[in-house]
Amino acid sequence: MAEKKMETFDPIEMSEQQFEKAISCIKKLKKGLIEFLKKPKRVTIVNFPIEMDDGSVQSFKGYRVIHNRVFGPGKGGIRYHPDLTMEEVISMAKLMTWKCALLNIPFGGAKGGVICDTKVLTDGELRRITRRFTSELGDNIGPNIDIPAPDMYTSEQTMAWIFDTYDMLHPGKNNRPVVTGKPIEMGGSYGRNEATGNGVFFVTERFLAKALIPELQTVSGARVVIQGFGNVGAVTAQAFFRKGATITAVSDSQGGVYCEDGLNPDELLAFKEVHGTVVGMPNTMTMSNEEILQLECDLLIPAALSNQIHGENASKINAKVIVEAANSPITPMADEILSERGIYVLPDIVVNAGGVTVSYFEWVQNQMNQQWDLEDVNARLQKKMYKVIDLVFDHWQGFVICEDISSNEKKLNTLNGKKLDFRSVALSISVERVAKATLLRGIWP
Ligand code: GLU
Repeated sequence: MAEKKMETFDPIEMSEQQFEKAISCIKKLKKGLIEFLKKPKRVTIVNFPIEMDDGSVQSFKGYRVIHNRVFGPGKGGIRYHPDLTMEEVISMAKLMTWKCALLNIPFGGAKGGVICDTKVLTDGELRRITRRFTSELGDNIGPNIDIPAPDMYTSEQTMAWIFDTYDMLHPGKNNRPVVTGKPIEMGGSYGRNEATGNGVFFVTERFLAKALIPELQTVSGARVVIQGFGNVGAVTAQAFFRKGATITAVSDSQGGVYCEDGLNPDELLAFKEVHGTVVGMPNTMTMSNEEILQLECDLLIPAALSNQIHGENASKINAKVIVEAANSPITPMADEILSERGIYVLPDIVVNAGGVTVSYFEWVQNQMNQQWDLEDVNARLQKKMYKVIDLVFDHWQGFVICEDISSNEKKLNTLNGKKLDFRSVALSISVERVAKATLLRGIWP
């Protein structure tokens, strides 16, 4: 009997597997450069004490990682989570490098976070954690050095505290571009809060219009399942619902709800506001998070945690397309299984790039002391998202043509006999751009 391959959930190993697969699509890459691109440029670890509301003192650990700065200052979110690890932050910083390069946004990749559980912390404690973390990072962040943004369990409020702390420590300068995802009143951009969810919609809409799946060419009428009903999941649900999709199931950390005839995301949001969860919504069937992933649907949108679709459940997925709204929701082993089964995966670096795109717009507005209208921001976002999915799709098709010419065979989308996936194509474009820019700049000294 063939030995079953053990699946790894180590974030660094998984991102290296994806990287290796992607670089096999690139013709020439210097070996030393590949090794450099695998590693983070700088990892900052800070430990700091906080006085809690009850007078006790607790120690917290925070990270900020810059993976690459070839295209500009570091850019990426700050996440507050009790299970946060340095390995996870490093692999997410890498993802930001590839995301920014793919979008042609003049930033490098970064990510950060603090190990803490926002569900048990008061507002005052969160404010003190944020201020102290920001001051510990010191000049490792800055408008032209490294620019944080919101991520899981951080918000506009967190960004306002980061800005304020940095501004106190650097008076007399325009410090607004030090952080993005700020409240509108503090120099935030219209549309930033909804940007990731709207971007998920734009990418999917454009992809379906390419008619790769003849029976599924528009969002209207598509049956959609969304795992996660936080900011990204909820905005995504609203965008799809408004364009005529049927949202058959959604879930949050407490479980999922299903309705054959479709759910109304506005009603779900109102219910969640009162009850803290979507579970218990009238006229719905309660399901586990795992069950909703396996529902039959056209579009499955994981918009919550990483590693949700893995070697054990990938064969049970019943969707035509998986749209990765979350970062890294599919493991490399699941990627292989899904590809064998002919299920298309639209990868995170394309799908959820709307967030960092509008972050970039916010940074530009801050640098120029301007504020653009919502319509303007959304039109620019739509253009960027359409452009990036067109780019990836065209490259993906390019592989078809190359293979056809060289082998004279009808071996579609294959590389070394293996089906090529959109993730590898997207990653290979990014890696090639970063590698080329590194060599164009010249290696110092
Ligand atoms: N945290 C988001 C991401 O992972 C946004 C980062 C940003 O806006 O800089 O893409």
